[in-house]
Amino acid sequence: MELQYIKKDGNERKVVKAGSAIFGDGGFLVIAGPCAIEGREMLIDTAKHLKLRNVSVLRGGAFKPRTSPYSFQGLEIEGLKYMKEASELTGMSVVTEIMDPRDMDSIYPYTDMFQIGSRNMQNFPLLREVGRYDKPVLLKRGLAATIEDFLFAAEYIAVEGNDDIVLCERGIRNFDNYTRNTLDISAVPLLKQLSKLPVIIDPSHGTGVRNLILPMTLAGLAAGADGVMIEVHPCPQKALSDGEQSLDFDDFDKLIDKLNRVESCFKDMREY
Ligand code: PEP
Ligand code: MN
Repeated sequence: MELQYIKKDGNERKVVKAGSAIFGDGGFLVIAGPCAIEGREMLIDTAKHLKLRNVSVLRGGAFKPRTSPYSFQGLEIEGLKYMKEASELTGMSVVTEIMDPRDMDSIYPYTDMFQIGSRNMQNFPLLREVGRYDKPVLLKRGLAATIEDFLFAAEYIAVEGNDDIVLCERGIRNFDNYTRNTLDISAVPLLKQLSKLPVIIDPSHGTGVRNLILPMTLAGLAAGADGVMIEVHPCPQKALSDGEQSLDFDDFDKLIDKLNRVESCFKDMREY
């Protein structure tokens, strides 16, 4: 069966708006923030810093899909209240993960975009649920999903009426353990050749290694990605989740400085 709703027809490209942020208009959008919202102060501090660097979208998990049930599971709605405050303070849009269709109505007022994480990429009731709402969806590639699995997961959302979907390549499992996952850079031009949807990369989960985030961000830009999602924490050593792949403010600034210098070199040459 072929794709219908998200298929690319000719040169058609879908532009997706999340609050004031725009994906797929030819620019390179930066989403950043902590893996998990751990408290009010750390979130507001992070948001203020990111705003100074022109970040468009603040990320932060309040409902966390953790491997172990004994790990920090997120602050849930309390965390989303801090997120709303940070967004109002800085003007940044918000993206946060939804794991359960039953949480839809409680999360809805607090976010501009729903994230569906890797572990739920084929949670079909959840895909259909976000497809029935009027807010955009950030769909992350499953840990072991083929390109076809990924595209049909997006199609599930679009079939319900919502084709405001951004695809996120976040690395796939392989045999190596120097990295947490292997970021599939080739997926970026491939997904953009097969679908009309914007595609971003997540080099934080895609590598799991702090020192690989900058080079992979630049690789994603060159490969035609519409943006990047990066985990940033005021003190990664103390993070309650994913500290080893989070950048502190200084390292994030260095990344943005390099990205700004390189971005103009690729102007108008990122469609393949
Ligand atoms: C996340 O972005 O917070 C996350 C849990 O990522 P993934 O679903 O890609 O593992
Ligand atoms: Mn994380």
